[in-house]
Amino acid sequence: SSQAKDTKSSGSAKSVAIVGGGVSGLTAAYKLKSKGVNVILFESEGYAGGKIRSNSENGFLWDEGANTMTESEKEAGRLIDELNIRDKQQFPLSQHKRYIVRNGKPELIPSDPISLIKSSILSTQSKFKLLMEPFMWRSSDQKSSAKVSDEYSKESVRSFFQRHFGKEVVDYLIDPFVAGTSGGDPDSLYMPYAFPELWDLEKKYGSIIAGAILSKLKAKSSDKGEKNTSVKKRNTRASFSFHGGMQVLIDSLSKEVGGDNLKLNSKVLSLAYNYEAKSPNGTWSIACDTRNSGTKDITRKQSFDAVIMTAPISSVQEMKFSVGRSPFVLDFLPKVSYLPFSLLVTAFKKETVQRPLEGFGVLVPSIEQKNGLKTLGTLFSSMMFPDRAPSDQYLYTTFIGGSRNRDLAGAPLHALKEMATTDLKKLLGVEGEPTFIKHIHWQNAFPLYDKDYNLVLEAIEKMEKSLPGFFYAGNNKDGLAVGKAITSGSKVAELVMSYLDNKS
Ligand code: FAD
Repeated sequence: SSQAKDTKSSGSAKSVAIVGGGVSGLTAAYKLKSKGVNVILFESEGYAGGKIRSNSENGFLWDEGANTMTESEKEAGRLIDELNIRDKQQFPLSQHKRYIVRNGKPELIPSDPISLIKSSILSTQSKFKLLMEPFMWRSSDQKSSAKVSDEYSKESVRSFFQRHFGKEVVDYLIDPFVAGTSGGDPDSLYMPYAFPELWDLEKKYGSIIAGAILSKLKAKSSDKGEKNTSVKKRNTRASFSFHGGMQVLIDSLSKEVGGDNLKLNSKVLSLAYNYEAKSPNGTWSIACDTRNSGTKDITRKQSFDAVIMTAPISSVQEMKFSVGRSPFVLDFLPKVSYLPFSLLVTAFKKETVQRPLEGFGVLVPSIEQKNGLKTLGTLFSSMMFPDRAPSDQYLYTTFIGGSRNRDLAGAPLHALKEMATTDLKKLLGVEGEPTFIKHIHWQNAFPLYDKDYNLVLEAIEKMEKSLPGFFYAGNNKDGLAVGKAITSGSKVAELVMSYLDNKS
């Protein structure tokens, strides 16, 4: 095949070190390995997967990090096909039934324009504003796109959506959405980093609604040229997991990368780029702390032609870098703010839930805290995936914390349990104590894409420019969704391939 030829023509097999065994690092390792590159992946924990991890006990199965993903990113669908796990995909039952709390009660989020007009989630005024948006923000209109992009080189998520749709839409749709998907809030999050696609859509089309429709039509007509009809038919926005949880994706990637290439319990401490004055081709060596033996394992035996870093920036800041004999100081790398998150997995006997709701889950807007609600939202885990709980019980996954309630995320279990059950009582009418409870605390669940995130991105670029063969990928750079992390890992693998080809 042409692939085999490519690797042969570039001389002896190259080797690449990947730091971080989350989905982005695993994807990068898998892609490179499938091109004939030798890979070694270093992961500080005793397991691969990072923010993706499933667990099971007593007939329950739950996810402790990402619960679902989509194929909005083409790379995600491609990876599922390549890994041959299409048949393991598990789609939630009634996935379009999603709820938002309004006046203390869950209300169905309208999934199409007609149901939006009928629904009571927004006032008549906001509905009108939504309908008028394509006419108010036309790209031909001098006042809109051109001026806007001048005025705002960056803009908070609140300000952006408020300009287009008004305050109520931000409070009742945007606020709960960003809290549930990123732990953030509309005031701290900034458009160019949190929603780069929508940010570009406004620049191009003026109106977000018109832009979204037009760019979808464009994508459709360009897809027609593609032969792959199965991809065309698929709804790429649908959320899904796998039979066995999100872990299936991780296990299947890990298997492809190969156990020998996956160094678990290996926390990277330092990275050195070594070169000789006359030769342009330097190599990397890596030192790590192998937890089990407690010793420093300097991988002298092994040198790498390139390094892919996918560990969070906070971890990178703890590592030592050197070029030749000189230390490479990372003082230009800004501090990233991370949001803490607690997940409460609870189960209740079916007869003790008075108003069970069919569907995906419920989100709580910040302003609904006035009605005494303390959680960010709850996934109806066993409504989505009935095989994940014994048939006489409902399984729920409740989120607490984020930028809205940083302190609550770290509260002790009894307090978190109280918050989760109190909110579930208000929203679904659960009675009594959960029959099952698990608590997962993520101290650094999500990087916050805030006002000055461009400085982080610029610093990453500076590292990549200054350090030959050093590449950065993952959710601290390219977006939080699993699909984005996969895309980041795939893209970085391509960049590394062309770097290696140019080098030899
Ligand atoms: P990570 O998964 O963070 O991987 C980085 C890895 O680097 C980790 O394994 C870490 O242990 C390792 N590491 C760190 N330091 C070192 C070191 N010094 N040496 C070696 N290794 C090191 N996304 C969705 O699309 N849908 C969801 O429903 C969803 N829900 C989520 C719920 C929660 C609670 C969380 C936390 C995230 C959720 N996300 C969701 C986001 C998504 O899971 C992550 O953004 C994505 O998995 C990140 O992958 P990554 O590879 O970029 O980073």
